[in-house]
Amino acid sequence: MNYIPVSIVDPYLSFTSLTRRSSTTYLILHHADAVNFSVQDCHNYHKNIMKYAGIGYNFYVRMDGTIYKGRGWEYVGAHAAETGGYNYNPISIGISFEGRYDSVTTSMPEKQFAAGALLMAEALFRYNGIANICGHRDLLSTVCPGRYFPFDRMVQAAFGLYVDDAKMKSTEAYVLAASRRFRVRQQNLSPAEVLPMSGACPYPEPTAYLQQGSMGDGVRWLQWQLNQNGAGLSIDGDFGPMTDTAVRTFQRKTGLDPDGIVGVLTRAKLIAEPKPAICPYPEPTALLSVGSKSDGVRWVQWQLNRKGANLVIDGDFGPATDAAVRTFQRNNGLSVDGIVGPLTRVKLKG
Ligand SMILES: [Zn+2]
Repeated sequence: MNYIPVSIVDPYLSFTSLTRRSSTTYLILHHADAVNFSVQDCHNYHKNIMKYAGIGYNFYVRMDGTIYKGRGWEYVGAHAAETGGYNYNPISIGISFEGRYDSVTTSMPEKQFAAGALLMAEALFRYNGIANICGHRDLLSTVCPGRYFPFDRMVQAAFGLYVDDAKMKSTEAYVLAASRRFRVRQQNLSPAEVLPMSGACPYPEPTAYLQQGSMGDGVRWLQWQLNQNGAGLSIDGDFGPMTDTAVRTFQRKTGLDPDGIVGVLTRAKLIAEPKPAICPYPEPTALLSVGSKSDGVRWVQWQLNRKGANLVIDGDFGPATDAAVRTFQRNNGLSVDGIVGPLTRVKLKG
């Protein structure tokens, strides 16, 4: 079984026009902020009142646990954009849940919860590129999906299914290992309940030799460690030429034979090497946010990586950098606006 079998009801909604998505890196959860609200109700509201092409969500999960197709897997939704904010629609799948989860006094029905976890797990199977699992409110100015939405528990359940189906051992450790590959945004639970994302390396240390051409989690471990040392690699588990260059540079810097082969000695150095304290990029003076492109952005990305993010240091302030900034701001008691100004810079340097 490659997919978790999720039964999705197709209500055959008609849309004025839809665009295919070319990238899927976000999974964004919403609530409908309404009860006794069918998929057709939502479709009509979005189409006739909001003037969207039709229902804005890719999927709609009712309180009885029925999953309805909205725009489906392949199309760009209309659920995560705002004027002056970033438009996440072209890079995300939006799932909405019937209910008022900012003001409910009862918890989410178990059937709806289970359906949500199944659907999320299937999304993870279908789209390897999903690296961010968020509530709407983690990204834009809204309370959606609400204080009482069981976000963290649902994500954990989805990972449990995801891991089981990948024929991996269904231990808590594996579930956590899988969950750490994703940036899971916290909704409303205490820090102890939040899935850990930064700090310690989330990937297992490899035991075999690695070199150009190697693939897998061991390579992710290597890339993560190299990034801690300022490499700025994309953590894709693929030991390509850039990883090779970063390995040789690191080996040269630490007095090892620069042969590009990662064995016991290089691994030991990677773990032991004190992280560089001096950022090679100039500290920005202007406010930076999504859309900024500069060496100042590289400074921000470098500092975020030092704090445990896994960004490519490309000087381009895109959604991944935005998400990392907001996580950092949230974890450091700053206002979560995605704008890097003097206060955020001070914390980043600390
Ligand atoms: Zn929403």
